[in-house]
Formats: sequence, structure tokens, C-alpha cells
Amino acid sequence: MSAPDRTALLRQLPSVDDILSRPGIIALANQISRRIVVDATRSVLEELRREVIEASKGVESLDRLGLPSGVAIASLDRIEEAVKGAVARALAPSLRPVINATGVVLHTNLGRAPLAAAAIEHLRATATQYSNLEYDVAAGQRGKRDTHTARLLARVTGAEAAIVVNNNAAAILLALNTFAKGGEVIVSRGELVEIGDGFRIPDIMAESGATLREVGTTNKTTIADYERAISDRTRLLLRVHPSNFRVSGFTARPALEELVALGRRFTLPVFEDLGSGCLVDLSAQGFQEPVVRASLEAGADLVSFSGDKLLGGPQAGIIAGAREPVERVRRNPMFRALRVDKLTIAALEATLLAYLREDYDSIPALRMIRATQEQIAARAALFAERLRAALPDGAAVIELLDGASVVGGGSTPDQTLPTKLIAIKSAGRSADELETRLRVETTDVPIIARIENDAVVLDLRTVFPEQEPQLQAALIRALA
Ligand SMILES: *Cc1c(COP(=O)(O)O)cnc(C)c1O
Repeated sequence: MSAPDRTALLRQLPSVDDILSRPGIIALANQISRRIVVDATRSVLEELRREVIEASKGVESLDRLGLPSGVAIASLDRIEEAVKGAVARALAPSLRPVINATGVVLHTNLGRAPLAAAAIEHLRATATQYSNLEYDVAAGQRGKRDTHTARLLARVTGAEAAIVVNNNAAAILLALNTFAKGGEVIVSRGELVEIGDGFRIPDIMAESGATLREVGTTNKTTIADYERAISDRTRLLLRVHPSNFRVSGFTARPALEELVALGRRFTLPVFEDLGSGCLVDLSAQGFQEPVVRASLEAGADLVSFSGDKLLGGPQAGIIAGAREPVERVRRNPMFRALRVDKLTIAALEATLLAYLREDYDSIPALRMIRATQEQIAARAALFAERLRAALPDGAAVIELLDGASVVGGGSTPDQTLPTKLIAIKSAGRSADELETRLRVETTDVPIIARIENDAVVLDLRTVFPEQEPQLQAALIRALA
């Protein structure tokens, strides 16, 4: 099509004013921001213009255009609908709930730990009003924001002192900067990990101003390796929880106690990055994860861990340990740049109080980890039965299978929790199609599921019981 023809076609498009003068659009602009409505109208017309240019090859008249968006440009009604849709999208939050049916309890992409009801209640109560965040009510003078969580962290971990920063990466950065800027940190080659999303221990170390002194080999590091590396430039002995991988077979690393004894001998502090921050022994669940209290009892001067992994609270990095080194970290000017806000303190405080009450099941991540395979199997059987009953005959094959849930969040990777999976095969659609429909097409709340052996599999371990009706409704729509 020649350029003048295309111009003629484009001229047949309605103007912004044509759309804005329609009664439905006027009503919408009066009801909400006019600016949003104008912007939405412009962008819908702009999109149409692009589609006309794309689709106009060889077409003479606008009403013959089959536009990819399906919006027939002759129809002002449909443009109005498109504008309303664009307005609704502009005003909807982008961050929204999803249903996690993956069985990965601490899924970094899905926001890690869901917060306890008590955490939300405390957050709401203190954040919607003024609070004593940095005010000592009894003394009538300025206080410290750390005091709220420090006393609880001391009770729960046995630490003399504790401070809270934005996340564990910030905690590591701050501790290394405080103790080892301009000097060396000794760390085993077996612990130089990438935690995920490109976050690597060596990079953090470089940013902290400390120099990395690697010792040992990937699979074996001895206490003598550490000792040989100590020089007058050494400032800190670092130990890192290997987090998301495991070296198996011919491996060794010294016990934390040995590292502590070495540190004492050379007056060097020992800092352990624990990663997940397990506060209670979960070995009854068949889950072996280093417990914070044990590291402190073994003599680590400082430990750090995340707030939103196994701890089950908000995103935060906790530095705990002996009074003197924690106080030194606290006095680092960088602490001011990395500190947390009142929302985090409120949610963390309420979560730690649940630990103090030993009310572990009120913390969603812990409740999910502690759920037994029998409990999940009972829920899965009932869910499958209801789903079968609600579906037309032959719409899907639904089976219950033994499977494994994953704790995630930087806890040891090869430790899984036995679970019962609901495997669904649609009669008319591939597993990929069904998975996509659950995620984007059939529900306001996206369902995130896994695919295994050509079936969509759902693990109810990470689905809240109150989400089950929503999940069932989405499945019925997706399988229709
Ligand atoms: C997850 C993890 C971190 C990073 O913690 P964030 O709270 O995500 O910053 C650091 N070290 C280890 C060993 C981890 O597992």
C-alpha cells in the first residue's frame, strides 16, 4: 500500500476528543482521575495506529482490517472498552498475591516467607499510628529502634546483642566492612558460594573493602589451612553456610569450635554467615539445618542470617553475637544506610514473639515445613475428590502421587520433605497449556504449579487451606 493510502486510513481513526466526549468515558473521567483516562485513551489510539500501519499492507478500507488486537477500529464501542481496560490496568497494583502450588516453601521469586497473622496485626497496629519506634516511653527521651527486636533475639538465640539491617547480604557487607576493611578475611574455597541471582560472596567481600584470602580446596579445608594463611593483615575468619549446594563424598571442613579456638589464639573474630536463620531444631521433620543458637554456643563472635527464610518473618538481615563486636558493627556509619524501617521491626518483633511462645504453627513457613505427609495426603485426597465431582466426565485424569516438597531459601538443597502431589492431565490440553492457563488466563490470582511427567502437579503443602476453593475454581476454568 502506498503512503497516501495509509494516511487516508489513519485519518479514519477517531481522535482523542472523539473518545473523550463519549458519555461512558466522561463518567469514568469524573469518577477517577481525568489524566489517567486521557493517558489511557492516547495509548489505546497509539496502539491502534501502530496496528493499522502493520496490518494495512494491501488493504483499502479500514473496516476490512483484521487487527491483531481484535479491536475493529470502526467500532467506537470497542475502543471505549479498550480504554476502560487500560484504565483498570493502570490503576491495579502490579505486586499481587499468587497461589504457590509448587511445594517450595521459601520461594525467592514468590516472596519467600508469608507473614504470620500476628505479624500483620502488629504491623497494622503500629504502622498506621505513631509508635515508640525510637522513643523510650518510661524515660521520656530518645530510644533506639534496635531495642524492640534485640531483647527477643537474645531470648531466642542466646546472643548477647543483635541488630537488624535490610537483608543478610547487607549484614555480611556491614560485618566485613566493620572488621576487615583494608585487611584480609580468610575463607574456605568450599564456601565461596553464589547464593542466587548473581549474588556471590566474593563480590560482597570486594565491595566491603576487605581482601579475600582463600584457603583449602573445593572439597577439603583443614584448620591448618586457615592457620597457615593468618598474617598481620588478617582481620576476620569467615565461615559461610554452603546454602544452595552440597559437596558430597571426600569432603571435610573444620568444626566451628576449631575455628573459634584458632581465632582466640590469634585474637581474630569468627563470623559465620548462616544463610537461612533456623531458630528451632527441625530434625524431627527430618530436616537438618544449623541452628543459630548452636553457632553462638560454639563460640562464633558474630553470626548473620535472613529474616524471611526459615525464620519465617519479613525481609531482614540479623547480626547477632557477643556485645562488643555487635556494638562495633552498630557504630559503623554504613549501619545507618542499611537499617530497617518500622514495618520490618513490627513484623519481625511479632514473629519472634511467636517463637518465644513456642507457637511455631502460627508462622506459616514453619507450619508448612512441619506438616506431615499424612496431613497433606488427607487434604489432597479430599481436594481431588471434590475436583473430580465438579468436572465434566472425562475432562481430566487426576491422580495422587508420592513426591517431595523443597524447603528452599538457602537451606540445604538435598533435604526434601515427603509430600503427596495432585497430578492433573487435561483431556484436551497439554501440560504446558494447562500450566499457562492456570498462571495467566483463568484466574485473578495466578496459580503457580510444576510440570512433571507431562502432568501439572500441585503440592498442597504451600497452598493455604483457605485458598483451596480459589484453586479449585481456577482448575475448573482452566480445564473447561
Ligand atoms: C540467602 C543467603 C544470603 C543472602 O541473604 P538475603 O537475606 O537474601 O540478602 C547470604 N548468605 C547465605 C548463605 C544465604 O543462604
